[in-house]
Amino acid sequence: MKFDRVAILDWSAASTPKTGADSVWLALAGAGGVTTSNPPTRGEAEAELKATIQASLDAGERLLLGCDFSLGFPVGFAERLTGQGRAQAVWEWLAQHVHDGDDNRHSLREVAGRINQLFPDQGPFWGNGAKNEVAHLSRTKPARSATLNEFRLTEKEARALKLSPKSCWQLAGAGAVGAQTLVGLPMLSRFRQAFGRHMAVWPFQNPDAPIVVAEVYPSMLTAEVAALQAGQPGMIKDEAQVRVLASALLSLSEGGELDALFQDDLPVVAREEGWILGLRQQLNLRLAVASRIEPPRLRDDCFAMPQGVDWVPVDEALARLRSVLRPVTGTELCTLSQCQGRILSQPVIARRSNPPMPNSAVDGYGFAHAATGQGPQRLPLVKGRAAAGQPFNGVVPFGAAVRILTGAILPEGVDTVVLEEDTATDGASVVFDGPIKPRANTRKAGEDVAEGASALPAGHVLRAPDLALLSALGISKAPVHRQLRVGVLSTGTEIVPDPSLPAKPHQIWDANRPMLLGLARSWNYEPVDLGHVIDDPTLIAQRLDAGAQQADVIFTSGGASAGDEDHVSTLLRESGTLTSWRIALKPGRPLALAVWKGAPVLGLPGNPVAALVCALVFGRPALSLMAGAGWQTPLAFNVPAAFSKSKKPGRREYLRARLTEQGTAEVFKSEGSGRISGLSWANGLVELPDDAVQIEPGTPVRFLPYAGFGL
Ligand code: AMP
Ligand code: MG
Repeated sequence: MKFDRVAILDWSAASTPKTGADSVWLALAGAGGVTTSNPPTRGEAEAELKATIQASLDAGERLLLGCDFSLGFPVGFAERLTGQGRAQAVWEWLAQHVHDGDDNRHSLREVAGRINQLFPDQGPFWGNGAKNEVAHLSRTKPARSATLNEFRLTEKEARALKLSPKSCWQLAGAGAVGAQTLVGLPMLSRFRQAFGRHMAVWPFQNPDAPIVVAEVYPSMLTAEVAALQAGQPGMIKDEAQVRVLASALLSLSEGGELDALFQDDLPVVAREEGWILGLRQQLNLRLAVASRIEPPRLRDDCFAMPQGVDWVPVDEALARLRSVLRPVTGTELCTLSQCQGRILSQPVIARRSNPPMPNSAVDGYGFAHAATGQGPQRLPLVKGRAAAGQPFNGVVPFGAAVRILTGAILPEGVDTVVLEEDTATDGASVVFDGPIKPRANTRKAGEDVAEGASALPAGHVLRAPDLALLSALGISKAPVHRQLRVGVLSTGTEIVPDPSLPAKPHQIWDANRPMLLGLARSWNYEPVDLGHVIDDPTLIAQRLDAGAQQADVIFTSGGASAGDEDHVSTLLRESGTLTSWRIALKPGRPLALAVWKGAPVLGLPGNPVAALVCALVFGRPALSLMAGAGWQTPLAFNVPAAFSKSKKPGRREYLRARLTEQGTAEVFKSEGSGRISGLSWANGLVELPDDAVQIEPGTPVRFLPYAGFGL
């Protein structure tokens, strides 16, 4: 089932013209995107909708119109009101009796009062929100009607799914939907008159006409609505809700996944109550729309440091980074075989319990515990056996035992298993010593993970063991963050971009770009090679422009200091968004942090040793946060030093280090920051505190293995 456009209507029963929150909102999603309108009266909204429907018909297109009020009432109401047990008889009745003026004044309360009189008890409608008393319409909820249910089946199911739709009998109060229904159905009745067989109302009719009307529940997609609002400051909830739902349904339609939503298996639903479209497919709807919402980019001034700050201690710099950054990627659905290394965007909920059924943990014999006692036991064996994948079909009589193998479902009549090694058998009976503990050697259904439980949290990075869990729980596709795109740009007139090219004596091959692209790959982000540029502000600016288009975050290296040729920092400063963080760190000169056309730029030092340390210490947690996996603290532990060093106070220091077989940390022979070979020699870093320290062999030092940085 495909639609070219989806319209979502958020209706209102306001009795004067109204715009903004709690008024009529209409979203229309199509190939060109989503548009919304906020007509002040129902009359204007009706005219606009009618024109939209007509335009779709004229263009030969299909339109799905979702309305946020009930298309039917609880079973039995239609018959009582109209003598016919079908929803659309109610529509026609209401169209004849409810007056709704161009000024939004309506008579729905009086009509509800009159309907109430048709019932032997107080009648189902209640909730008079008007000043004046209305005959036969109580202000408060009456004792429940003996003849009608409070909720339709679809609302009962919604409530079981932790949504909270109100009863359509309730005409006033927060979230009440009854009044909207009474002024909504007459409009739909008029559309039916006008468009005849070109329009079908689901589930009362087959949804195969060019125009299909269905009932929707816009509050279903709370998290996605909040995400959209976060990116569009000032957008009110009603508008965000209709936008999100319209795009979700259009996405599903484009993906050919709408059919599952249009199912009705109950006659009462299909005849008179109606059903909330997508109620059982909320996850699909959420995923469909989540992939369309890109979170807002970071604010241009997010890296600003307070005035007068001189040297920032490492911990303070980290805390500041952590507080200003947030996830910048949208989400998508990823098949199990593709999702290693990806970051969950929503918790994974178990589709089924693991194990699904109680089963045996060993090979042995199963029986009812209550039939056994102290001392020697002899139980007759039943014919057949229970094995994994080959359940025992039948009941094991009380006092008998059955041969059972590891992983087999416990047959009916079995709650305990005795280990094969503890038994003897002649083929007709099994002998063992009691007592055996009740439920010994069995696994309870769901003892690992129960159906519906959250198995992994949002933000979790999926590793191989997690794939086992997902598969065991029946998850074939996981909702994950889109991969963070990490742009890498090298600057420097002396740099030759590729070692396959010749280098003159005054030139050096680019070491940083392959390293930083490799880091991005190790962290399972998408590396985006932005190449190399010479120290020329115009060229650097052009390349940053391209980077901001192609990447979510950019690493530059070189030119980040304050020297004559430090064009990266000059440029970023002139663009007005640079903050040079003078971090009290060795090795590492200032870290330039800026936002270039919406993309955060981490300007790393040119020196490869300093570039790596800064990328590991600052880049890794910053990127992790932006990618949706949260802030990361590297793995660190204390080991005895295998070296001596006297360190002055002021700057935190990172030394290229290696964990020896004896469990001590040795450091590279030279601290010279040009020694790239030391980076390869090392398998981690030793971190020395900001304060002064005196280290002798045996002094505990903090070791941070490369592996803990994801290398
Ligand atoms: P800069 O930060 O531009 O002053 O560079 C500091 C030092 O790092 C200089 O010796 C540069 O030649 C060197 N350098 C800068 N970029 C790279 C690079 N991509 N690969 C290797 N060395 C570099
Ligand atoms: Mg340079």
